[in-house]
Amino acid sequence: MEIKITKASTLKEKPDSSALGFGKIFTDHMFMMDWNDEKGWSNARIVPFENISLHPASTVLHYGSEIFEGLKAYRRKDGKVQLFRPIENIRRMNRSAERLCLPQIPEEDALQILKTFVGVEQDWTPSAEGTSLYLRPFMFGNDESLGVHAVHNATYVIIASPVGSYYKEGINPVKIMIEDEDVRAVRGGTGYAKCGGNYAASNRAGQRAEQKGYSQVLWLDGVERKYIEEVGAMNVMFKIGDEIVTPMLSGSILPGITRMSCLEVLKKQGYKVSERLLSIDELGEALENGTLEEAWGCGTAAVVSPIGELCYKDVKYTINNGEIGKVTQYLYDTLTGIQWGKIEDSFGWTLSIE
Ligand SMILES: *Cc1c(COP(=O)(O)O)cnc(C)c1O
Repeated sequence: MEIKITKASTLKEKPDSSALGFGKIFTDHMFMMDWNDEKGWSNARIVPFENISLHPASTVLHYGSEIFEGLKAYRRKDGKVQLFRPIENIRRMNRSAERLCLPQIPEEDALQILKTFVGVEQDWTPSAEGTSLYLRPFMFGNDESLGVHAVHNATYVIIASPVGSYYKEGINPVKIMIEDEDVRAVRGGTGYAKCGGNYAASNRAGQRAEQKGYSQVLWLDGVERKYIEEVGAMNVMFKIGDEIVTPMLSGSILPGITRMSCLEVLKKQGYKVSERLLSIDELGEALENGTLEEAWGCGTAAVVSPIGELCYKDVKYTINNGEIGKVTQYLYDTLTGIQWGKIEDSFGWTLSIE
């Protein structure tokens, strides 16, 4: 596919890596491409970063027709830039698109787009410990009409943002509140799709948890409020005795690429790993009798985030003395080692940008 590149006439100054934060600074260019149901995809272009102009009736503004992805480009010690399992993000984006009746992008095209765009912006990949270039592909329905139906027009965009280290002061275990009122998603809904609407629906619980001093909520299933689903915008895993348990992908859980990678690393290492239903009662019992040894969230932003405290119906439980556990640390070291090219990628997960 042909990608037209229009370079910005002046380039921005690169920020100091200590001032990065998350998603506040954007690079010089963005990728855009248009779709309509007669012509398919067209006009693939890399253009100077700028505001997007939308018709006030644009579908996305009224009916939430939007999906997104999140992945990172990492600067290796040898100076090269690499991506981590980008094909998995592309496949997931296409599954999200299918759920929301947005158009899919052929895998080879989507990968070529990503590689070309990162190639153009790779100088923006910071090199300080733990920093990376966050990539945010997203797609939205863009009909100029208020009629409710699957869209005839859509726009695909990729923006990029250099981001700081998630753990500036070492890995601090987080406090999580189990949410028993709001739900994030239900089976048959959009839980497995990475769509903005899921986030809009989860903000209220997140805000309430924050007001009580918790960093995120742990979601329960939407039907019985009984089974563990995921935590905030991360998947969740528990070490109960010798077994590592993570909720199975039932349709209402986002199939995380970090989740998938953790499971593969753990299996290769010989751990007993189960994807199954895990009820709040079973978790409560494991907390009471001390067999819950470790708990952690996993996602692209933090890689793994140890959980030091869980609160359920105002009862507080401390996990592993509020410290990071051995398995959590092992996963962190292995995944970040592969991502930043510090250890050998025996899984073949990385893709280097030329
Ligand atoms: C993106 C996301 C995750 C984590 O997925 P990764 O591919 O590991 O980054 C987990 N839960 C939700 C709700 C998400 O949006």
